[in-house]
Amino acid sequence: VSPSGGGRAERLAARLGERGIDSLLVTSLVNVEYLTGFTGTNAACLVSGEQRVFFTDFRYAERAAELSGDWTVEVISGDWLEGLGASLSGRVGIEDDRITVRTAHRLREALPAGCELADAGGEVEALRRIKDDAEIAAIARAAALTDEIYLEVFERGLVGRTEADIAAFVQARMREHGAEPSFPPIVAAGPNGALPHAEPGPRVIGTDELVVLDMGAKLDGYCSDCTRTVATGEVDARAAEIYGVVLAANELALDAVSAGARAAELDAVARNLIDEAGYGELFGHGLGHGVGLEVHEAPRLGRRSDDVLVERDVVTVEPGIYLAGICGVRIEDLVVVGAGGVELNLSGLPKTLSIVS
Ligand code: ZN
Ligand code: ZN
Repeated sequence: VSPSGGGRAERLAARLGERGIDSLLVTSLVNVEYLTGFTGTNAACLVSGEQRVFFTDFRYAERAAELSGDWTVEVISGDWLEGLGASLSGRVGIEDDRITVRTAHRLREALPAGCELADAGGEVEALRRIKDDAEIAAIARAAALTDEIYLEVFERGLVGRTEADIAAFVQARMREHGAEPSFPPIVAAGPNGALPHAEPGPRVIGTDELVVLDMGAKLDGYCSDCTRTVATGEVDARAAEIYGVVLAANELALDAVSAGARAAELDAVARNLIDEAGYGELFGHGLGHGVGLEVHEAPRLGRRSDDVLVERDVVTVEPGIYLAGICGVRIEDLVVVGAGGVELNLSGLPKTLSIVS
């Protein structure tokens, strides 16, 4: 997916005045990719009202010549940060949330007289929230592939296999489809399901337990993320009850998703329902997160988030309940935010408790 001409850099430039900076030095590679389409390992760019400068080193000089948009390419030879610093002027914003203190320090030392740096992180991330049609299509393809692999996993069966075996199968199938996992898949059976970030291990999946599967693909640069919890037979009344509570929380929160909704309030919609069912203490993470070039990006849907949803945000809604030592349930959908509600739910798998043996 190549960025739509210079539109992204222009939208970025339009935001800089509000931050009180003349230009923004973009050093985060994923942000550079978003602005320019470049996917190499060393680059930066400088955006101001008039300037679009792309910096890289000699290894990428040829590729840089093929960038879309109006980028002036500067190939830095010698020390990278000295070269970058020397090219700056005026009041330059840096991505202080992405850059190390050491890098900022070295950059400052290389600045010409009269030039100063100012913290201005989060600007490209804010732009990245609003996905264009091509980006939504790419995320939808990654989500569809994930659904397809889920079905293969269920068809192959869970009982008698180890968590690690299933995770390895998922990774292999993604690669066979020209994708890669957007994060290491989670396969957590029985009591392991109570650990939200469980690492798949040698545990053999038994009958009559809950299994939490959380996976996503990265395809054409864009990520997906989906969690389903299934039963490997008949589960006890409490496990079934917890499943019902998490599903109700997932659906209630999805109903509350729309542009203008406050992320903290969405989190509260799910959290209050889980609270009232008596499991409030056991929902130990936020409701969800944005997904795009990165599997975790803005906005953040959680208790302490200040974010407000906008149209074309792509976010997860993933409440969970984790009963230490016993089991866990998480149900995660990936949705496109619309003006009046969920525009599109990209997670196509059913959510009623399925039995997979
Ligand atoms: Zn997930
Ligand atoms: Zn997620």
